[in-house]
Amino acid sequence: MENKGCSAEQIKTTLAQIRERVAPSAKNGRVASYIPELAKSDPRDLAVSVTLLDGTTYSVGESNKRFTLQSISKLFSLLIALIDQGPAAVFSVVGKEPTGDPFNSIVKLEMISSHKPLNPMINAGAIAVSSLISGEDVAARLDKILTLLKRMAGNETIAVNRRVYQSERETAHRNRALAYFMKDSGILKGDVEEILDLYFLHCSIEVTTEDLSAIAAVLANNGVHPITGQQLVPAEYARICKSFMVTCGMYNDSGAFAINAGIPAKSGVAGGILAAVPNKLGIGVYSPALNEKGNSLAGALFLEELSKAWNLSIF
Ligand code: GLU
Repeated sequence: MENKGCSAEQIKTTLAQIRERVAPSAKNGRVASYIPELAKSDPRDLAVSVTLLDGTTYSVGESNKRFTLQSISKLFSLLIALIDQGPAAVFSVVGKEPTGDPFNSIVKLEMISSHKPLNPMINAGAIAVSSLISGEDVAARLDKILTLLKRMAGNETIAVNRRVYQSERETAHRNRALAYFMKDSGILKGDVEEILDLYFLHCSIEVTTEDLSAIAAVLANNGVHPITGQQLVPAEYARICKSFMVTCGMYNDSGAFAINAGIPAKSGVAGGILAAVPNKLGIGVYSPALNEKGNSLAGALFLEELSKAWNLSIF
């Protein structure tokens, strides 16, 4: 969609019409419950924000509602690790290939001879990447991620939801299993519980769809903040992120999503999706009822419809 030829009214109308069409589909999904705090979300919520590269944001639905990033945060632990250590160090502990398996799968970790997680968008890969973030303690490492997100969103109030963090920390048996396996095979260096703690904390960072679309707009704009013109993320690292979003951002539904929407996107089990249309716009979606692959059901449908309406597919 080019801003020219599309008035503010037309943009708002399109967003409202698509919301009306896809919202009922949420009843076929289920909110995540393996992290007990997430089970409290309202499955009827469907919020979408779009930030154009002139900085204008349009929203529909419950765009003030806060939700946790969950897997969307894997993009930002990746960015900080890349900034801290460079691509060679990052890709010595994590691969670049999609898995075709669920996000928390353990099977390929043992089967691949290097024991390297296949990519940074699955849990094992994100835990390995988090282990590379430097800083005196967990709080200092988390602060690097939070500072980047605050700058990208232009929102100083972004913070961790401590209830979700505690809830995840107490029930993360599978993530612990992944992390201790990686410690045993030499992928993880350092204190496993500290690394896991940083991972749980960054997954529990809370945002609104307006934060998410503003953050996505920076990625869409090659790392440059659309309003201030500041280069917040090296363009090369923004490109790496968008590549992973296409190949593995929507879990083991990434291939279908690439065909149906054709937009680099990263989803999280709280129901958020961050989508970045290169050189065009950023999108933030929230609808917590998930499909069987763990993606926001109505959220993914919304993006598919919006892509068709505004011709957003990059392919
Ligand atoms: N914190 C979640 C977990 O580790 C993130 C999963 C997700 O959003 O896909 O299970």
